[in-house]
Amino acid sequence: MERDPRAWQDPLARPVTFLPGVGPRRARALESLGIRSIGDLLYHYPFRYEDLRLRRPGEWEDGRRVAVEGTVAGKPRVSRGGRVPVVAVPMDVQGIRIHAVWFRQAYVLERLTRYRRWRLAGRWQAARRSLVVEHMEPVSEGGAGHSVHAGRIVPVYQTSGDLRPKWLRTWIASALKEAEPHLVDPLPWRWRAKLGLMDKAEALREIHFPRDWERLGRARERLVYEECLRFQLPLQCARWRQKSRRAPALRLTRREWEEFLAALPFSPTEGQRRVLRAVAAEIAGHAPMRRLILGDVGSGKTVIAAAALFAAAMSGGQGVLLAPTEILAEQHARTLSGWFAGFSFPVWLLTGGTDRAERTRCFADISAGRPGILVGTHAVLGHVPYSALRVAVCDEQQRFGVVQRMALLRPNESIHLLSMSATPIPRTLAMALFGDVDVSFLPARPETPGRRVTRWLPLEREEEVVLELRQRLSRGERAYVVAPAIGRPGEQPESKKDVLSLFDWFREQLAGFAVGLLHGRMSPGEKERVMRAFAEGAIQALVATTVVEVGVDVPEATMMVIYHAERFGLSQLHQLRGRIGRSGQDAVCFVLTGPLTDIARQRIEAFQAVNDGYLLAKKDLELRGPGDWAGLAQSGWPDFALFDPIRDEIWMRRAKHHAHHLVRSREFWLLPEFASLREGLAVSGEGIH
Ligand code: ADP
Ligand code: MG
Repeated sequence: MERDPRAWQDPLARPVTFLPGVGPRRARALESLGIRSIGDLLYHYPFRYEDLRLRRPGEWEDGRRVAVEGTVAGKPRVSRGGRVPVVAVPMDVQGIRIHAVWFRQAYVLERLTRYRRWRLAGRWQAARRSLVVEHMEPVSEGGAGHSVHAGRIVPVYQTSGDLRPKWLRTWIASALKEAEPHLVDPLPWRWRAKLGLMDKAEALREIHFPRDWERLGRARERLVYEECLRFQLPLQCARWRQKSRRAPALRLTRREWEEFLAALPFSPTEGQRRVLRAVAAEIAGHAPMRRLILGDVGSGKTVIAAAALFAAAMSGGQGVLLAPTEILAEQHARTLSGWFAGFSFPVWLLTGGTDRAERTRCFADISAGRPGILVGTHAVLGHVPYSALRVAVCDEQQRFGVVQRMALLRPNESIHLLSMSATPIPRTLAMALFGDVDVSFLPARPETPGRRVTRWLPLEREEEVVLELRQRLSRGERAYVVAPAIGRPGEQPESKKDVLSLFDWFREQLAGFAVGLLHGRMSPGEKERVMRAFAEGAIQALVATTVVEVGVDVPEATMMVIYHAERFGLSQLHQLRGRIGRSGQDAVCFVLTGPLTDIARQRIEAFQAVNDGYLLAKKDLELRGPGDWAGLAQSGWPDFALFDPIRDEIWMRRAKHHAHHLVRSREFWLLPEFASLREGLAVSGEGIH
C-alpha cells in the first residue's frame, strides 16, 4: 500500500517556524544545532534522561531532584532575607506538608494564585522539608494531563546559545504530534514482526518521551537497527559490484622500500612494520586493496598512509590523502613533504585556502599525469581531474559519511583504498561494521622516552594547575584547557563549566602568555585560524571545547587540563589525553572535577588507571545508566545518531546480514515497500571504507 511519498515527506519537511512558539530568532538558534525542519527535530535525540516520575514522600532523597504533585495549602509569602526575593508556599503532597521555595522568581506569586494543583520538580532538602523548585506546571482539573517536563522520564537535549532545554522539549513534543499521522515505516511490517521491532512512529515517540526504561530500550533498538541497515545497504551494494575490478599492481623494489624507511625520521615499531608489510603485499597485486587501519590516537598510522602513497608515486602514478579538516590536511602535507623531500615527485596541498592560480597549476599537473601525492579536504577533492590515480587514503575515516567516502572513488573505482580510524572498537565489530574491507590493528606505540601522567584534582585546587601551566609555558611548551560547555557572553558564569568565562579567567592568570579561544560556535575559518596559531606557537595556551579532539598533532603540547571531567565520556577524555606528549616529552593531563556521584568517581578512577581506548569504551558502557548514552554521534560519525559500537554490535551484525541478502534479491529492487530503503542507493562506489 504505497502512498504518495510526498504525503509523509511534506509534514516532516516543514520549517520549524511552523510550530507555535518558534519565531525567526529561535529558528536561527535551532539552525545552529543543524535543525531546520520538523523532521530534524524528531531526529534530535536526547543524549540523557532524567527520571522525574512522581515518587512517594518516603522515596525522596535529600539533595536530589524529585518530582511531586501537590496542592497549594496556604498563602504564598515573599521574603527578602538576603539580596534575593524568596517565595515560599506550603503544599500538601500525598498527605505530607512541605514548603515549595523559589529563589529570585517573584513572578511565580501570581501564577500560584491562579492554580491550586501543581506538578513541581526541584531539589529536596529533607532537613527543612522544602523543595527548591526548578520547574512548575499546573495540573488541569480532573486528570494528570500530558506532561513533558516533570512527572515522567524527562528527555535532556543538547542545546545551543540561549535555547532553553525546556523549549526544545515542548517543540519536539509538538513536532511529534504534527508528524505522527504521516510517518510511514521504512521497514516492511512483516520484517518488523519477525525481529520484534517497534514501529517507527512509536519508536520516535518513546525515544523522546519514554513511558519506562524498558520501552526506551526497545525504541532505541528499533532506531539503531534502521541506522545500521541504512549504513550497510550501500556497503553491500558496493561489495556486490566489487568482484570484477582490477587495480594497477604497485610493485616496488626492495631498494625503493629501503629508501622509504630511510626517509622516515624514526624507525617503525614492530607493529607498524607488520602493517606496512601487509599493505605493500596487497597493493602489489591486482585485487583492489580495501583496508582499514584501526589504531589508537598516537599509534602512528600516518606512516602506513605514507607508504601506500609513496608506492603510488614511485610507480609513476598519483595518490590522494583525504583529511577531515584543513589544518590536518596541511599538517599531513607538511609531514609528507618533509619525509619525501629527497624524491622527485611533489606533494600537492589543496584546501579551501589554496588560491586559484595554485590550484590551476596543480590541476594541470594532475591531469597531465604527473606522478605525485595530493593532500586535501573533501570540499576540494571532488573536482580534481585525476589521470593516474592509484591509491586513495582516507584519514580519520569515521568523520566522513558513507557518501563522502564514496566520492573518493567516483573518479575511478579500480584503485587501492586505505582508511584510518582511531575509533575504539573491538575486532569482531570492526569486521561487522566494515564488512567490505580487511582490518589491520595497529597496537599503541610503547611510550617513548617521555611519560604521560594523569593527575586528578578537585576544582578547588586549580591554583596548582595554573602554577604548572606557567612553568611549562615559560619553557616553550604548549597547553590545552578544555571545558564542557561554551557559555553565553556577558553572563555570570555558574562555575568553571563554560569556555568563555574560563578564557577570561585564564587570560588573567596567564598574563604575559598568549591565550587563545576555540569553540564550536566559531566559523570553520576562525577555528582553522586559531588552531593554526596554536600549532605554530603564536598561541601558547588554548582554551577550548572538545572541538580540539580531531587528530591534529602539535608536538609541543605537553599539558591538558580538563575542567569538569565528570561531564565527559571516557572515550572523549581519552581522545583529549591523546593530544599531548606526542613527541616523547613528559606530559601531564589534569582532570579537575566538581562534586561526584559514585559512578562518576569510578569513571574518573578508570580513566586514571587505564590508557587503552577500547578498554575505556567498554568500562564507560558498564558504568552508564539505562538512559545514558553517548554513542558515536558525539565522536563525530555522521552516519549514526544512536549506534554505539560497544553496545550495539549485535544489531550491526544483523543489519549486515539482512543488507547482504536484500541487495541480491529482486523484491528489494522492485517492491514499493522497500522504496524508502532504496533511496540513494543508485550512487556508484565500492568498498567505501
Ligand atoms: P596517529 O595518526 O595514529 O594518531 P601519528 O601517525 O600522527 O599517529 O603519530 C603520532 C606521533 O608519533 C607523530 O609525531 C609521529 O611522528 C610519531 N611516531 C610515529 N611512529 C613512530 C615511531 N615508530 N617512533 C617514533 N615516533 C613515531
Ligand atoms: Mg592521525
